Amino acid sequence: MKTAYNFNAGPCVLPKQAIENTIKALHDFDNTGIGIAEISHRTPGWEKLMADTRQLWRDLLGIPAEYEVLFLGGGASTQFMAVPANLLNKKAAYLQTGVWAKKAAKEAKLFGTVDIVANSEDKTYSYIPKGYTIPTDADYFHITTNNTIYGTEIKHDMDCPVMLVADMSSDIMSRPVDVKKYGLIYGGAQKNVGPAGVTFVIVRKDILGKITDRQYMNPLPTMVDFRTHAAEEDKNISMFNTPPVINIFMMYETLKWVKEIGGLTEMNKINVKKSNLLYDEIDRNSMFVGTAAKEDRSIMNHCFVMAPGREDKQDAFMAFAKERGMVGIKGHRSVGGFRASLYNACPIEAVEALVQCMQDFEKANK
Ligand SMILES: *Cc1c(COP(=O)(O)O)cnc(C)c1O
Repeated sequence: MKTAYNFNAGPCVLPKQAIENTIKALHDFDNTGIGIAEISHRTPGWEKLMADTRQLWRDLLGIPAEYEVLFLGGGASTQFMAVPANLLNKKAAYLQTGVWAKKAAKEAKLFGTVDIVANSEDKTYSYIPKGYTIPTDADYFHITTNNTIYGTEIKHDMDCPVMLVADMSSDIMSRPVDVKKYGLIYGGAQKNVGPAGVTFVIVRKDILGKITDRQYMNPLPTMVDFRTHAAEEDKNISMFNTPPVINIFMMYETLKWVKEIGGLTEMNKINVKKSNLLYDEIDRNSMFVGTAAKEDRSIMNHCFVMAPGREDKQDAFMAFAKERGMVGIKGHRSVGGFRASLYNACPIEAVEALVQCMQDFEKANK
């Protein structure tokens, strides 16, 4: 097979063993002689796999008992609607750090007043705003912890005067998280925890069912109401309807791999090491400059462009990198240049190969 270093932003690289074990399970799940896509989701073997997957989430993130862990469909984009549907009574506050955050706020406006407390669109979302005030009468404050397109990240669990809600689509499981500081955490799986098609929602039970004042979408449609899915989890089944079985199986295998590595403290150490390796090269190399404010740099997505005066070399570097097996390094059209996503499953060898490629390109263009 061709050597490819996969820096895609999502869907993206997954652990080899997760892929191998999923292929096996497609043929034969749990020694049943039947493949994972072909069994009933009400068989004990599958119910156990659901329970084990949830337990992995709980163990890795240290999720307290008063939280539910839900596996739903529809992607993070559906949660942009479902989160305010479940939590926005009158008013919510949003931090606009990118287009995902903007899209989330847009949906929330359907349900009530939305206060954009700060917005970094003025500089193409290249930084995380600071020094803003969160209104204390907001039902919740929504943040996007990692801004996949711009390579900025909120790397700490902030103290918040109101309930904190986070889209962690692209940095979940990259570092330990103090879950207690959040009312709700959600995201699509396809960056760090599995293939596209399953969405995770971690929600504190006592915040649900509190919509009293709102007219719109009240009562909630059954599938939108998190309590529908949470009630099932309490029976340790968590399947109101048919879950995306292959996706959850692969998520299980991906998280098992994270656990084998040593959990999130270890995972974070590895991620920081990979990330520093690439940022050091971006900062050293005369051909390139990083686009994100240094203090807000993401350890997942690394954005860089050609240095001033070297812009004419952009296509040449793209071709040079492609020749050496680099895949998925084209930057998002709103930022331009390049973006290398170094998610959990991206091996350090891939980062080393990219760094070497950048060094060789510099030498060739001296
Ligand atoms: C990818 C991404 C999304 C969109 O996820 P879908 O599952 O495609 O809806 C939302 N937020 C962030 C931060 C993302 O990286």
